[in-house]
Amino acid sequence: MNDQGQEKPHLSYSQINTYCTCPLKYRFHYIDRIEPPFTAAPLAFGSAIHEAVGAFYQSCLEGDPLSADQIHDVYRQAWESHSKERPIRFSNGDSEDSLTTKAKRMLEVFHAEFDPAVQIVGIEEPFEVDLGKRMPPLVGWIDVVEQAPDGTVTVADLKTASKRYADQTVHSNLQLTCYSLGAQSLGFNGDTRFRLDVLLKTQNPEVIRYETTRTNADRDRFLKLVKSVWQGIRKEIFFPKSDWQCGQCPFADPCKEW
Ligand code: SF4
Repeated sequence: MNDQGQEKPHLSYSQINTYCTCPLKYRFHYIDRIEPPFTAAPLAFGSAIHEAVGAFYQSCLEGDPLSADQIHDVYRQAWESHSKERPIRFSNGDSEDSLTTKAKRMLEVFHAEFDPAVQIVGIEEPFEVDLGKRMPPLVGWIDVVEQAPDGTVTVADLKTASKRYADQTVHSNLQLTCYSLGAQSLGFNGDTRFRLDVLLKTQNPEVIRYETTRTNADRDRFLKLVKSVWQGIRKEIFFPKSDWQCGQCPFADPCKEW
């Protein structure tokens, strides 16, 4: 029930998503704490881009925005740190060099398209939502909170993706629903907007900003899911959900022995 390195019992979006993706993977990662033998390159890449964009937002918050080259330097440092942690497994013909070049182009586009009139008012905002008796709290961090010149506040989450999202994917994105609960717990009111910023890792990178909303019905449904996941964890219901995602799973060996 803990993300690694933390002691206080809690549930995070990442845990919920892992359990829904594959309950056995959840057990290997969060309960057995099996050290993965490799990091899949798309995971390391997305994480390094996320750290680079986070550093840019932090510099905006401090009033001294980083240049595109400086953001790319943050990417390279983050990548290096991931590759020191454990070996990176490449796929789809990618290599460290090809991903470094791709990251540079993507971050240049991200930097060029950032609207300096938008004020960054929060980054990595931690939240904790009380889920009631016999449930650990739901915790997380909101990537970025922006304020437009007209005063509109938007909670946004950055993703890297190889193609555009379908409308339904945006409307049903559970991470944003989780963030909307977090935003409520932090005191953001019903006027707060939600957005998914998707940085496309295509030949010609683009930033697609998908605006969306979340209703109480969306949040109630998500909470129902969280409670069901928690029941599954408590009752130790862990089974392999073999599908296309197994190809990137670092727990293939213990899975075979299950
Ligand atoms: S290999 Fe597939 S079924 Fe096995 S733990 Fe990983 S994701 Fe689950």
